[in-house]
Amino acid sequence: MASNISYKCPTCGAEIFWSAEKGCFDCIYCGDTFTLEQMKEAGAVVDQPIDEQKVEHAEEIVDGEYTQTTDGTVSKDLVKYSCSHCGAEIITDRSTAATICVYCGNAVIMSEQIIADFAPDYVIPFKVQKNKVMEAFKEFSKKPLTPKDFDCDKVVDKMQGVYIPFWLYSGKCDGRIEGEGINKKTYRRGDYEITEKRIHDIMRDGTVNFEMVPVDGSAKTEDAAMDSIEPYDFKDLVKFTPAYLSGFLAERFDEDADKCFPRAQERIENTTRSELEDSAAYDELDIKSYQKKTTIEKTEYAMLPTWLLYTTYKEEKFFFAMNGQTGKFIGNLPISKVKLVLYSLLGGIGGTVVGALLGMILG
Ligand SMILES: [Zn+2]
Ligand SMILES: [Zn+2]
Repeated sequence: MASNISYKCPTCGAEIFWSAEKGCFDCIYCGDTFTLEQMKEAGAVVDQPIDEQKVEHAEEIVDGEYTQTTDGTVSKDLVKYSCSHCGAEIITDRSTAATICVYCGNAVIMSEQIIADFAPDYVIPFKVQKNKVMEAFKEFSKKPLTPKDFDCDKVVDKMQGVYIPFWLYSGKCDGRIEGEGINKKTYRRGDYEITEKRIHDIMRDGTVNFEMVPVDGSAKTEDAAMDSIEPYDFKDLVKFTPAYLSGFLAERFDEDADKCFPRAQERIENTTRSELEDSAAYDELDIKSYQKKTTIEKTEYAMLPTWLLYTTYKEEKFFFAMNGQTGKFIGNLPISKVKLVLYSLLGGIGGTVVGALLGMILG
């Protein structure tokens, strides 16, 4: 069945996975490593288009009670595949593009989620390895305000490497700002301090070209979290082949390029405005109008690596996300109320620090 596209080690025939640590495919059985090129040279089928005729389609589940969704929530739209290694049933939600069989540990890639309209153009293979992420999380959770019974060692096991779908928009923005540029001069005359203001009418227009502005296309991931772990360095972007998904989880997009476009547009138009403003060298600017027109010339689709951890503590949800290429992360943690009171009483921690912790954006 084609729900599983496996990649075999050219030396020993065992299933082979992408190694973030080594930056190549790594056989944990015989220890041989291969680049994608070497895999091809050794005759491994790594970049053949998927035969759409042979793709296994998911079976609908009406009353599913199990789930393997990446965020640990129970999805209503569950489907069923079968693991071609061990035959076990794989129950997952509709937007899952790759997972790991919980029974045999082999990689399961849902071909129907990466072909036709769902076929990604690019991928950035994982660079940050799991033990590094786990160390970072343990360090992060050693906050003075983390409750004593928050079991970090147990929680960290839930850390998952997930490829998140991103839309990449390229095009241009024509912008025009009009308003007043104000220059100020302050000087003393006798007992008076005099401020002289010179006001100039200003107009600036220009075109800003932009390339690959990323916006995640997954409804289930927190948009703000995904924005916070950016940027990704697109120098590592390579042509997509399913082999990179092997051993990781992957989501395919469930929000299309049109739906996600307003988020890209906002970023593009804000950037264009500040570029135009920067070109007007005055002490102060009073912008009366900003006209802009964004034109998209190309939309591409990429899978970008993230490490995600969802957990609950006393029925509250907590979340940790790391950029799987750069290691940049954000997250929130339970805060012990007892400790919080203690710290404030002792004056060991100021209001702003507590505020920042509660603000939950750490990185
Ligand atoms: Zn091998
Ligand atoms: Zn299996």
